Amino acid sequence: MIDFTLTDEQREFRDLARQFAEKTIRPAAPAADEKEKVPWDVLGKALQAGLLTYYIPEAYGGGGVDSVVTRLLIDEELSWGCAGVSTIIGGVGLCATPIMLAGTEEQKLKYLTRFCEPGPDNRPRLGAFALTEPSAGSDPAGLMTEARREHGKYVLNGYKQFITNGGISDIYVIFATVDPALGLGGISAFIVEGDTPGLVAGKKEEKMGIRASHTASLILEDVEIPVANRLGEEGEGFKIAMRTFNITRAHVAISAVGLARAAYEYALNYAQERRQFGKPIYANQAVSFMLTDMAIQIDASRLLAWRAAARADRGQPAIMQASMAKAFAADMAMKVTTDAVQVLGGYGYSREYPVEKWMRDAKIMQIYEGTSQIQRLVISRQLAA
Ligand SMILES: Cc1cc2nc3c(=O)[nH]c(=O)nc-3n(C[C@H](O)[C@H](O)[C@H](O)COP(=O)(O)OP(=O)(O)OC[C@H]3O[C@@H](n4cnc5c(N)ncnc54)[C@H](O)[C@@H]3O)c2cc1C
Repeated sequence: MIDFTLTDEQREFRDLARQFAEKTIRPAAPAADEKEKVPWDVLGKALQAGLLTYYIPEAYGGGGVDSVVTRLLIDEELSWGCAGVSTIIGGVGLCATPIMLAGTEEQKLKYLTRFCEPGPDNRPRLGAFALTEPSAGSDPAGLMTEARREHGKYVLNGYKQFITNGGISDIYVIFATVDPALGLGGISAFIVEGDTPGLVAGKKEEKMGIRASHTASLILEDVEIPVANRLGEEGEGFKIAMRTFNITRAHVAISAVGLARAAYEYALNYAQERRQFGKPIYANQAVSFMLTDMAIQIDASRLLAWRAAARADRGQPAIMQASMAKAFAADMAMKVTTDAVQVLGGYGYSREYPVEKWMRDAKIMQIYEGTSQIQRLVISRQLAA
C-alpha cells in the first residue's frame, strides 16, 4: 500500500526539527560557514532537544525513532537549517548506524549510550566513520590500513582521508584490512575510542561548502584495540559498510532535498518581490518555470528518498533505491541551488545573500558516501543482476 499521510508522531518530530532549524541552526549558520568552525553550542542544544540521537534506541538513551522514514523527516528540516550542521549530525549517525546494525549487546550498551549524554567538557560527543583513504576512495578494495591480530588484540596502522568529525570525535568506526590480498573480503570494522594512543588527528580540510562541519585525515600508528571492539566477524567490514549506506544514502538524499528546498523557498519569495521592466520577475515564465521545475524536482527527490526509507523500514532490499535517491537528489540539489543563484542575479552571487552558500553546500552531495558516478555504477549492476 502506498500512503503519503504522516502519522501524528511523524508530524510532531518534523515540527520539532523545523522549529529547531529555524530558531537555532539558521541564525548560527552564516558565522559557522564564514569561520569554518563547528558550532558546538548548536550541537549542545540539539542534544538537549533530542535531535542528535533521535534514532538511537531508548534502551541506550536515545529517542527511539526506529522508522527510517521518520528519521528522514527530521533530517530534511535540519539540512534546511544548514547542511554543514546536518553533516556533523549525520557523521554521528554514520558511526552509530553500523554499531546498531552489527554491534553486540555489550558494544551497543557501551558506545551508543555515550552519544546520548554530554562529555566531561559538557560538549556533545561526536562519532565518525572512517573508510576513505588516499588510494581508496570510490574503490574500497584498495584499502591499505592494516589490522594485525596479535596477543589477543588488534594493532591498526594506516591513514584515513576526508573523515567527517575526524579528530573531534569520541568514537570511531574504522575500516581496516586483515589481509590486503583478500580485497573486499579482508576488510573488517573496528570501534576505536577517540583517546586511544596512536590515533592522531591529521590535517583539517579547508572546504568549498558544508564549512560548519569538520573534515580531517586520521593517522593510525600502532593503535591497539581489544578483539571485543571488532564489529561483526573478521572480513565482514565491507558488508557492514554497505548495509550502513543503504540507510545513510537515503539520509544524504533527504539532506539534498532540505538544502534545495531552502534555496527554492528563498528564490520563490525573491522572484515575487524583485521588480524589473515594471513587474515582478516572477511574471516572466522564464523565471516562474525555473521555480516550477525546482518544485517538481524537489518533490520527486523526496519521494525517491521516502521510498528507499520505506523499504528499509519493511526490511526489503533497498540498495538500488537508496542509490537512485542519492544520485537523483544530489544532481537535483546542484541544479536547484545554481538556478536559485540565477533567479537572484548579481545578488545571488553576493555573499550578503544566503543562496551562494546553498550552492557551495550542494556540491558535496554528489561526492560523499559514494559519488554520483558510483551510485550509477551500483544501479546499473542491480539492473542487470
Ligand atoms: C567533505 C567530505 C566529507 C567526507 N566524509 C567522509 C567520512 O566521514 N568518511 C569516509 O570514509 N569518507 C568521507 N569522505 C570521502 C568521500 O566518500 C570520497 O571523497 C568519495 O567516496 C570519492 O572518493 P575520492 O575522493 O577518492 O575520489 P575518486 O574515487 O578518486 O574519484 C574521482 C572521480 O572519478 C570518478 N570515478 C572513480 N571510479 C569510477 C568508476 N568506476 N566509474 C566512474 N567514475 C569513477 C568519481 O566519481 C570521481 O568523479 C568525505 C569527503 C568529503 C569531501
